[in-house]
Amino acid sequence: MCRVLEPVPVIREARDPREDRGALSSVPAAGNRRATPMPAQLKFFHGPMDCGKSTLALQIDHNHARQGRHGMLLVRYDRSGGAAITTRVGLARAAIELGDDTDIRLLVREHWAAGRAVDYLIVDEAGFLTAAHVDQLAELADDSHVDVYCFGLATDFRTELLPGAKRLFELADETVPVHVEVLCWCGRPGRLNARVVDGRVVREGDTVVVADTLAADHGTAGGTGAGGGDDAASATGVEPEVHYQVLCRTHHRRGDLGTAAGRGQLALELP
Ligand SMILES: [Zn+2]
Repeated sequence: MCRVLEPVPVIREARDPREDRGALSSVPAAGNRRATPMPAQLKFFHGPMDCGKSTLALQIDHNHARQGRHGMLLVRYDRSGGAAITTRVGLARAAIELGDDTDIRLLVREHWAAGRAVDYLIVDEAGFLTAAHVDQLAELADDSHVDVYCFGLATDFRTELLPGAKRLFELADETVPVHVEVLCWCGRPGRLNARVVDGRVVREGDTVVVADTLAADHGTAGGTGAGGGDDAASATGVEPEVHYQVLCRTHHRRGDLGTAAGRGQLALELP
């Protein structure tokens, strides 16, 4: 008797094509991506005063609201001194003002508890936030899928990072310079906010000012210019003139405001 040995059939296991992506193996399949919500983002838009940050804040709010998303507007110190996001081009929206002790997480949860959706946050004057505020925003983005858009100055009138900006640079998913160019009187891009008291650039004093300290006839005045009210009170009872002016780094360093007539304009160099 002779048996013909039949070849052992090779059993090929059906392979999941998703297992065979080589270098792309860490990328989840499209189907999985749908099961996992898109992670929310914490973004920081920064620039000197007058560069249009608040206008951009309201534009982003408008764009999201138009898509049916629900936002909450928050502000630290607005130039109007009230609970609103106001812009130099005349737009304004009511906003919730944040104090030192405000827990933004609780604020959002209170809204949810009242049955109102919060899909995103717009935070203006975010440079003046505390580090704790920014930590709370990061937690809301990570754990609650709330998109957070922060707008503010990066540095104060001493050219040092503001506390909220510092923490945002450390934690934000994205930091974006706002590119509406503000020019120094010399024509170079203005990057820094100078506090000017009685015609001189000062580098000491309180970091924070609550609102515009000057009437609008000082075209460069700005409460958002990281200035301080203390300079305005002098022992003689005469109020010094305080305003804020955007300068390039060179002229901020030198304390050079250009000619009085040329403030905010290009100065002509005479031979
Ligand atoms: Zn300059």
